[in-house]
Amino acid sequence: MTAATATQAAYVVSALLFILSLAGLSKHESSRSGIVVGIAGMAVALAATIGLASRSISAAGVGLLLAAMAIGAVIGLWRARVVEMTGMPELIAVLHSFVGLAAVLVGWNGYLDVEAHGSAGGELAGSLLRVHHAEVFIGVFIGAVTFTGSIVAYLKLSGRIRSNPLMLPGRNALNLAALAAFAVLTVFFVVRPDLGLLIAVTAVALALGWHLVAAIGGGDMPVVVSMLNSYSGWAAAASGFLLNNNLLIVTGALVGSSGAYLSYIMCQAMNRSFLSVIAGGFGIEAPAAASGADYGEHREITAEEAAGLLSEATSVIITPGYGMAVAQAQHRVADLTRALRERGVQVRFGIHPVAGRLPGHMNVLLAEAKVPYDIVLEMDEINDDFAASSVVLVIGANDTVNPAAEEDAASPIAGMPVLRVWEAAEVIVFKRSMAPGYAGVQNPLFFRDNSRMLFGDARARVEDILGALAALV
Ligand code: NDP
Repeated sequence: MTAATATQAAYVVSALLFILSLAGLSKHESSRSGIVVGIAGMAVALAATIGLASRSISAAGVGLLLAAMAIGAVIGLWRARVVEMTGMPELIAVLHSFVGLAAVLVGWNGYLDVEAHGSAGGELAGSLLRVHHAEVFIGVFIGAVTFTGSIVAYLKLSGRIRSNPLMLPGRNALNLAALAAFAVLTVFFVVRPDLGLLIAVTAVALALGWHLVAAIGGGDMPVVVSMLNSYSGWAAAASGFLLNNNLLIVTGALVGSSGAYLSYIMCQAMNRSFLSVIAGGFGIEAPAAASGADYGEHREITAEEAAGLLSEATSVIITPGYGMAVAQAQHRVADLTRALRERGVQVRFGIHPVAGRLPGHMNVLLAEAKVPYDIVLEMDEINDDFAASSVVLVIGANDTVNPAAEEDAASPIAGMPVLRVWEAAEVIVFKRSMAPGYAGVQNPLFFRDNSRMLFGDARARVEDILGALAALV
């Protein structure tokens, strides 16, 4: 067996391991083993690639490759260890930007290499050379859109720039003009490749990526994160074509299609049109200015009173949100769940698909705190049960429990399905102030007759309730 055949065989093994990894990641119970299988696939892929490269590059070159990998691995391990769960979406956005940048660099290298050394000794002649130039152009375009789009997502998610949508006049025409420019430039480049054209497409794509994500508003950001995940996959696949690397093509396509499917599911969950979101808010009007409606007075509750209500409850539903991640309250929430279940209270969790700042954010936190999977239910599974429950604990959630989404057609989150917590007999809302949630809209839930606010850090307040419950025994 030649080295090239052995490498291709290793790539097939890696691709299968990646597919098994995706299958594992689709369920709570198998997600850990899914990650281990994915790591194994990547280890096989790296070993095979380095093994093949070592036959065509000098020992010094292999040394450089290993040194670069070691530096990358150290930085990756360090960031992954220190990142807070609340910082994960930003970290993921930055990682997507690296994939985009890598695709741009691979594309540029593909062009400069052919310019400097000719078409690989005449290997790439005629139509094949044209295909190569098209690959360069498409790879650079997708990579540059992913790069700036991910940077804007990072800035929005980390609160460094406003999360409100940027509504430039004629923004849809601008996006369409950028796509048309890409199509025209591609034709010119394939016919007569030129550095100026490559610079032009890079600039157009950088601007388009920035504008597409800047035009998407706070509430739609979850779709952006999964969409950029998909773009990064297609960027990697484009690089795979250029580098003639089958595994990169397969892996890129897996990431690209699973990211696209996740974006589609998120759009359905948020009742948004997939096409309008990926087209940078196409067809979405600027949200009406905050109505400033006067919802009346809110009422407060103490931890002791909350413990009293809980001790008499028969059915409790907990709806966690981003604030639970900020407060790192998941372990105390798990303790509270155990304490109530020991008292014979039925406790379940209602998880909104976009709660937190990352798809599956709440599920990861609750799994970390060892909350049993069978009491953690999706929005659709639990939304009809709120009316029959005695108490709902809204722990750091806001937009995902906002009745304005159903009742106020002018609200920026109008149409988004939400957890109907207000149908329960009593609602206790854990948050630190009356500040709005991520979408920047006030929540009329806080002013309902059956709602009471428990102000303060969610973790401290849950600890207070645990103490008060213990004192009740
Ligand atoms: P929100 O972001 O709407 O609200 C979180 C609430 O938590 C805030 O109102 C805040 O109020 C409260 N909070 C913050 N820190 C604490 C703390 N230490 N203790 C107690 N409360 C705290 O949360 P949701 O999860 O309901 O909604 C998620 C939002 O994020 C949606 O708009 C979604 O579209 C968006 N999004 C989701 C992504 C995803 O993939 N899931 C990605 C990007 C955006 P206060 O400051 O008063 O304490």
